[in-house]
Amino acid sequence: MLIDTHCHLFMEPLCGDIDGVLKRAARRGITAIIVPAVETSSWKKVAELSKYRAVFPALGLHPWFADEILDTGLLGKLLIETGSVAVGEIGLDFKIENPDRSTQIIVFRRQLDLASELGLPVILHCRGAFDEMLSILSEKKYNRRITGVVHAYTRGRQLAERFLDLGFYLAFGGAVTRSRAKRARSAAAAIPLNRIVLETDAPSIGMDGVEPEQMEPANIARIAESLALLRGINSEEIASRTTENALELFNIREGR
Ligand SMILES: [Zn+2]
Repeated sequence: MLIDTHCHLFMEPLCGDIDGVLKRAARRGITAIIVPAVETSSWKKVAELSKYRAVFPALGLHPWFADEILDTGLLGKLLIETGSVAVGEIGLDFKIENPDRSTQIIVFRRQLDLASELGLPVILHCRGAFDEMLSILSEKKYNRRITGVVHAYTRGRQLAERFLDLGFYLAFGGAVTRSRAKRARSAAAAIPLNRIVLETDAPSIGMDGVEPEQMEPANIARIAESLALLRGINSEEIASRTTENALELFNIREGR
């Protein structure tokens, strides 16, 4: 049993072959797929996908779209109605200039407030903004009141420790399959196994020998195998431990 904790199933080319994607995933033992929204126009698409048994929705406004109008009343209502398992994906991306940093921070904070109010975990996107993000998450109003996952983690172990201290999980994807991704692989090898979850981030990130647009949840099996090799344990153990972690973090009960 495996869980893909981050897949944009509503995007091309995945959305053109949902049945095939889900069938191939099931064949490799992927029993749950968390589908985070990005821009507001994707909320409805994610909500519709939740009719599939294996799909668990997450709704939020990604920092790239922080200048869209964010109606937190509507977002809160949709999160509840769709049985979403997280607010996401949300975060900070200081490698882009538009939307500007202050707009991103305001939108990020409003969604943290909503997550805290609803008792939902968050799915975090963070690029070039780790100090700012950690300082926000450490504030008294969020510290230990908000939990979640840093998605597509490729940074080192020291930075990882700071998120672990705040109770967060780290999601590893295609990077661990690439021998050149030394920093991500050494973090993935060292971080406590009870704080690791797996993700493809399909169709945004590829893996060794697989282009981003060819990525799909079935590839989680290979990511689990790479992580098992890095940690010197068998892939069944990686599968069961990361699945347990995801079920706990996202409060998913089996046999929904
Ligand atoms: Zn994503």
